[in-house]
Amino acid sequence: VIEIGQPEHSVITTCAYCGVGCSFKAEMRGDELVRMVPWKDGKANRGHSCVKGRFAWGYATHQDRILNPMVREKISDPWREVSWEEAFGHISSEFRRIQQTYGKGSVGGITSSRCTNEETYLVQKLVRQGFGNNNVDTCARVCHSPTGYGLGQAFGTSAGTQDFDSVEETDVVLVIGANPAAAHPVFASRLKKRLRAGAKLIVIDPRRTETVRSAHVEAEYHLALTPGTNVAVMTAIAHVIVTEGLFDESFIRERCDWSEFEDYAEFVADARHSPEQTEQYTGVPAEMVRQAARLFATGGNGSIYYGLGVTEHSQGSTTVMAIANLAMLTGNIGRPGVGVNPLRGQNNVQGSCDMGSFPHELPGYRHVSGDAARETFEMLWGVKLDREPGLRIPNMLDAAVDGTFKALYIQGEDILQSDPDTKHVSAGLAAMECVVVHDLFLNETANYAHVFLPGSTFLEKDGTFTNAERRINRVRKVMAPRNGLADWEVTQRMAQAMGLEWAYTHPSQIMDEIARTTPSFSGVSYSRLEELGSVQWPCNEAAPEGTPIMHMNGFVRGRGKFLRTEYVPTDERTGPRFPLLLTTGRILSQYNVGAQTRRTANVVWHDEDVLEIHPHDAEQRGVREGNWVRLASRAGETTLRAHVTDKVAPGVVYTTFHHPETQANVITTDFSDWATNCPEYKVTAVQVKPSNGP
Ligand code: SF4
Repeated sequence: VIEIGQPEHSVITTCAYCGVGCSFKAEMRGDELVRMVPWKDGKANRGHSCVKGRFAWGYATHQDRILNPMVREKISDPWREVSWEEAFGHISSEFRRIQQTYGKGSVGGITSSRCTNEETYLVQKLVRQGFGNNNVDTCARVCHSPTGYGLGQAFGTSAGTQDFDSVEETDVVLVIGANPAAAHPVFASRLKKRLRAGAKLIVIDPRRTETVRSAHVEAEYHLALTPGTNVAVMTAIAHVIVTEGLFDESFIRERCDWSEFEDYAEFVADARHSPEQTEQYTGVPAEMVRQAARLFATGGNGSIYYGLGVTEHSQGSTTVMAIANLAMLTGNIGRPGVGVNPLRGQNNVQGSCDMGSFPHELPGYRHVSGDAARETFEMLWGVKLDREPGLRIPNMLDAAVDGTFKALYIQGEDILQSDPDTKHVSAGLAAMECVVVHDLFLNETANYAHVFLPGSTFLEKDGTFTNAERRINRVRKVMAPRNGLADWEVTQRMAQAMGLEWAYTHPSQIMDEIARTTPSFSGVSYSRLEELGSVQWPCNEAAPEGTPIMHMNGFVRGRGKFLRTEYVPTDERTGPRFPLLLTTGRILSQYNVGAQTRRTANVVWHDEDVLEIHPHDAEQRGVREGNWVRLASRAGETTLRAHVTDKVAPGVVYTTFHHPETQANVITTDFSDWATNCPEYKVTAVQVKPSNGP
């Protein structure tokens, strides 16, 4: 039994876990948070929440929080607490020294999808205006960067096309590479309600997840494909729709380029894309693909929801394009109840991408080579901007190992634990001369840092997050920053130490600058957010109250673009030494690498990471439920307990990566998406053997 005091006042704010973006009433007694109550008027959650948003906020006051800046000359030295002034002075002189010695492009910054829009905007501004290059990237690099590329190519903008409300008008739901029941629970409950009312569900996923089957809900079709074959399955679905004449010709003629469609139709109609031909390597029975394709094409309003099981592949961007093709092919875009929806894993993945934190894009998805957009910022910031794209995170690490990249500011991101190929990440970090980690805790990356800047939680700052339906929600300060400065103030003080004349006194002024420079945000202001509660971008003169459904009268790019989606097998192959395929994911009570949930008092957060293995594969190896097993790949090895279950198919194993000791990314490969370098976390050839324990 937990005793809680009576609240004295409350503040409406937004959950900082997943991309559903639930609103909460934070009930306070003095400066102490008493409880988080899901807010009935929150437009994304309408009074609902999951366990994480409601209960997993204890990390905010955890004893592991670092509250003072720290500096050390070498990473083998002990940390030395310093004043903020000394820390900023040290960073400023080190970054200037490094740029003078190694060149302007030898430094960069990484932002986080955990931070607010305003904080992310400031980090990319610091890099572009202060460092004078485009070496800025975000943790979306390792999750949804293929969404940016694929949807950008097909539709002209990188975002979910419909709002959560419109699931209530959907007749057929296709979920691919996502498990909303575990990762986006509040959206999942709205989805289940619709399914119970008669909508049909198709799931494409190697595992029989809680989304495939749960109380009162079961998917009509579960296409349990071999990991890495998404493109083949999606193209086979399109093959059936095209060859059986089930496509929406009038939509395609009206909204897309007909000659591109004809080229695409000829491509998918080829017999090599048929369900019968692809079955041999996708593992999905041809007849099931045919039935699922017919249902999606003829079952009424169709919506597609997808997650990292789509993007974190060597063909992540191609699968996103295949999803866009399917929506256009069936006329399922641009009205309520239909659309394409990337389910964002972290609270502000959408916002961090919107805010220009990619090395090739300015805020609002405008390429750095575009003169008009660059000039907007040049006029305002008083500097000439680089028109060449900068380095992505993996390129920064490669350049560090090569000796040309020397200093990095990392805000709210533990790249050593969350990025692939841990050995390469540590080699890159170790080769740098100044690594600045700005975070709540001394994370794994901080082992390689020269400066540590204490960060603030979402409870300690004002700002905005943008959820998976493009909804900009206010984050309101519930308690004073324990370290004395909110994260936006830290970045501003660092910029000032480097000589930049920034003078924001409140995040609302940062949003005003975003609105002045970014057409899709031109109608957004804190006063508009107070008035409406939240708005979905684009919010501008044409849509002053925001845009729940995108592409209603035409695609952002003009005509929708069909793209050929040739299946190319991943270079990661099974063989006698590594005969199984490992895929990874998240469970309801865990959140990513656990920085917050592992530091919140409640037993439910501390479930260990286990390896799911099919009974047949377990028996072959003499492995029983709960046994220790050694999991080895070409990249490395680790030790876990086995969970024997037929949720995974024979030949496939699965784990989560919540605890640092699991070291899941020691196992993963360095293969990545061909277009964006998003790592291929979801396919690793492995061997499993009995073990005596770690
Ligand atoms: Fe937070 Fe996501 Fe849970 Fe909502 S569904 S309470 S946003 S973790």
